[in-house]
Amino acid sequence: MKVALITGGSRGIGLGIARHLAAGGYNLAINGIRPAAAVQEALTALRAYNVQVIYCQADIAYAEQRQQLLQQVKQQFGRLHVLVNNAGIAPRERKDILEATEQSFDEVLSTNLKGPYFLTQAVANWMIAQQQADQDCQGCIINISSISATIASVNRGEYCLAKAAMSMATQLFAVRLGAYNIPVYEVRPGIIETDMTAGVKDKYDRLIENGLCIQPRWGYPDDVGKAVAALAAGNFPYSTGQVIMVDGGLSVPR
Ligand code: NDP
Repeated sequence: MKVALITGGSRGIGLGIARHLAAGGYNLAINGIRPAAAVQEALTALRAYNVQVIYCQADIAYAEQRQQLLQQVKQQFGRLHVLVNNAGIAPRERKDILEATEQSFDEVLSTNLKGPYFLTQAVANWMIAQQQADQDCQGCIINISSISATIASVNRGEYCLAKAAMSMATQLFAVRLGAYNIPVYEVRPGIIETDMTAGVKDKYDRLIENGLCIQPRWGYPDDVGKAVAALAAGNFPYSTGQVIMVDGGLSVPR
């Protein structure tokens, strides 16, 4: 059975992705920073798909915790086919870039960029070794960035910077891993109903009403989950380094 690791898979978009990969028969390693006791409901729901699910509590911003996370996945499953770099945070407080703090910059960049970047590096080396030992064990890496990668929101510059850089990381790893036939994709969600967007609901309601191409509605974690599952399933064998928008057409230039 194939194995997928989803960072930040304990709720929100990550859990939506986990549901769709579980439905596709993947054994799962779900990561988050809360203790295991807090995510039991999510784990039970995923196990109902008759797949193995482990929870790995680790803060991906820290090298040692990333290492422990991968160690746990190796011990439990021995191999890894799909990495979904989904964990991410918004700045604690939205501040204009003329006032934003270095502390917030470090926090957001460490979680949204440094963590996924070095996790990808470690996983890529693992996937290469894995494939050399067994030709049939193919890897795939999927980054969850954001429409903020190309839209300059000056009251959360650190978030936009991190997501834009994640896009370049997608391309860098796609180029480097192409020779090993390990595709690297980026999924860019628009406005998705999760804890992250709960505090700015009114603002996004207005944007959804006026900005989408499809009939106005919030995006759901399952919308992102479906896109990730399609990519992981190998439906795009001649594509890598590419972006899939999951934004109801919000980013379509008009
Ligand atoms: P949520 O806040 O709902 O969930 C975030 C998840 O990430 C949780 O599982 C959380 O773990 C985990 N997490 C946060 N920090 C860390 C860390 N340092 N190490 C490990 N896990 C961590 O966010 P969303 O589901 O909304 O967002 C998921 C991703 O999608 C993010 O990268 C976000 O930037 C991106 N995105 C979201 C959009 C939206 O509209 N919601 C739009 C575009 C992109 P725990 O549960 O333990 O706290």
